[in-house]
Amino acid sequence: MFIVLEGIDGTGKSTQCQLLADWFREQGREVVTSREPTDGPWGSKLRQSAATGRLSPEDELDYFLKDRSQHVEELIKPSLEAGKVVILDRYYFSTMAYQGSRGFDPTEIRQKNEAFAPIPDHLFILDLDVDTAHSRIGGRGDSANEFEKRDSLQKCRDIFLSLTGEPFVHLIDSHGTLEDVQKAIRAVLA
Ligand code: C5P
Repeated sequence: MFIVLEGIDGTGKSTQCQLLADWFREQGREVVTSREPTDGPWGSKLRQSAATGRLSPEDELDYFLKDRSQHVEELIKPSLEAGKVVILDRYYFSTMAYQGSRGFDPTEIRQKNEAFAPIPDHLFILDLDVDTAHSRIGGRGDSANEFEKRDSLQKCRDIFLSLTGEPFVHLIDSHGTLEDVQKAIRAVLA
């Protein structure tokens, strides 16, 4: 089974991935958790760039595709073929949202990815309003830079929300506690 958690910064994806992995392991399932960007060569460059902003938008998109292609071939496909539960913290829907918010067409990004990357069985979009997300990641909201950050988070959130309505996509309100959010995810899978 292939499960992906997505959402803007501050929604708690990585904690929810770990809690979900615990739940499957308690049921005796073999679980692989991973994240994107990965810790591989392309992913490491992307994480550096997210912190310092040195890559051009075109290179960034290109690195995401290279990072994902390696992730799919080396980890995702072999794990699914071995019958494991694969839980990802971000996948190509984040590329649609973040690189979409930087001017690329989300539909085109999706098509490019679905040409080589398997579609998950379940996509959970952890949803938070931008003010709450921004304050959870430590934004102060009183400078032009903070305003810009909020504006780009809003664009990302809108792209994530545009995915709802497809049968494998589940929108999870993430304003509650960690336990509330985990309960909502498990209720869908139970
Ligand atoms: O998942 P995590 O919060 O660790 O993501 C690292 C950073 O990369 C975040 O700040 C996120 O905004 C950024 N990112 C991005 N484009 C993506 C995925 C993540 O700019 N496609």
